Amino acid sequence: MASTTNAFEMAQAQFDHVAELLQLDPEVREILRWPLREFQFRIPVRMDDGTLRVFQGFRVQHNDARGPNKGGIRFHPAETIDTVRALATWMTWKCAVVDIPLGGGKGGVIVDSATLSTNEKERLVRGYVQQMWKNIGPRQDVPAPDVGTSPQMMGWMMDEYSKLTGQYTPGVITGKPVGGGGSLGRTEATGFGVIYTVREALKYLKLDPKNCTAAIQGFGNVAQYAAIGFNQFLGGKVVCVSYWDREDRIPYTVSKADGIDPHFLMSITDQYGSIDKTRAKEAGYVIEDAEAWISKEVDVLIPSALEGQINVESVHKIHPRVKVIAEGANGPTTPEADKVIEEKGIFMIPDFLCNAGGVTVSYFEGVQNDMNFYWSKEEVIEKEDQKMTSAFLAVLEMSLKEKVYMRDAAYMVAIARVVKAMGLRGWI
Ligand code: NAD
Repeated sequence: MASTTNAFEMAQAQFDHVAELLQLDPEVREILRWPLREFQFRIPVRMDDGTLRVFQGFRVQHNDARGPNKGGIRFHPAETIDTVRALATWMTWKCAVVDIPLGGGKGGVIVDSATLSTNEKERLVRGYVQQMWKNIGPRQDVPAPDVGTSPQMMGWMMDEYSKLTGQYTPGVITGKPVGGGGSLGRTEATGFGVIYTVREALKYLKLDPKNCTAAIQGFGNVAQYAAIGFNQFLGGKVVCVSYWDREDRIPYTVSKADGIDPHFLMSITDQYGSIDKTRAKEAGYVIEDAEAWISKEVDVLIPSALEGQINVESVHKIHPRVKVIAEGANGPTTPEADKVIEEKGIFMIPDFLCNAGGVTVSYFEGVQNDMNFYWSKEEVIEKEDQKMTSAFLAVLEMSLKEKVYMRDAAYMVAIARVVKAMGLRGWI
């Protein structure tokens, strides 16, 4: 696969590779290589100082053969139509691999939300809905939070949509606050989901999780609950996490050879995932350099921070003991490093399978909104476990049957399901 920095070209290259393995018809490839619909629009917002600013918004609906499009809205100063196209495409595969009846969508606004006041944010998200309301909805396209947004912003968007349509419609958007149409268990969902897939991988590899150790990169939403799950559900030991230090403006690894206590570390971590290293040191933790997490002598690596962290240089630092890599983050492994991992025979749980617990519980949020009946946290978590486990097993089966790498197998399962739905609907 050619190396590229354009996310959408990368998404298309990954698709082309698997389309070839699946021997897909050229007409089918032509549909799936591109989003079905794209919206680009301007959002005028009256700022607090009385001036008018005009923001650029995007919404891309990649494929809705299996159900309404689903995907977050990113508020980012470097947002482009191509990033949104790529993320929408990946959402189609993510929803298909966990077998939830949703398609792939993504949205974006070019803005640094940290520069906006609360009132300006509210006017901007309401403006986004005013532009898009005829093309989103519980049966069309269901946005969600992403970079630069918050549950409160989702609440305002749901309110604006409900006002415009004249009907209370919580299912138009997910990631809403609990008590305002949100689901219990969403906060834990992605990290716990990562651990359900790790549990199944260890079972397949015949490794006793109680004797297993893990190193985690990141200590935000995904990493925190992955650490708790690794301890609580598997009885294993997490020896380090890492984080971006907002004071020193560099990343560090925070280690404890006899196992970190995620609850203690969470109590000294701010809302951005930055740990108070003075208090960590006082409690016996060792502060190491940023890369230390990747070279730890552990059984499982869980990159849960950023994209491109396991790359052509860092991949060679992975300790020979590592048996499983569970991609909590989106795109943590570059295509070049991926080849090395495949050659080393490390068991890979690819991102759009591994971190699909988040979108699975978002789907449950929509289901509860539709029923106007809400489940307990235990029910949500149990249903998530069932979905993640059967998704993992379907991908493993494909990997063994076709003798392909787990990432290719995940794509094969997902693409085959979307193609089947297109066929059943008479599109192809
Ligand atoms: P977050 O912002 O809550 O946490 C990110 C963490 O990474 C923080 O602890 C931060 O300090 C740390 N970090 C930042 N730069 C770092 C660096 N250079 N080295 C080490 N650590 C660094 O984000 P999150 O929600 O936990 O998401 C993490 C990843 O998981 C992202 O790739 C995201 O797209 C993906 N993801 C998240 C969800 C979800 O539900 N939150 C779902 C699917 C995928």
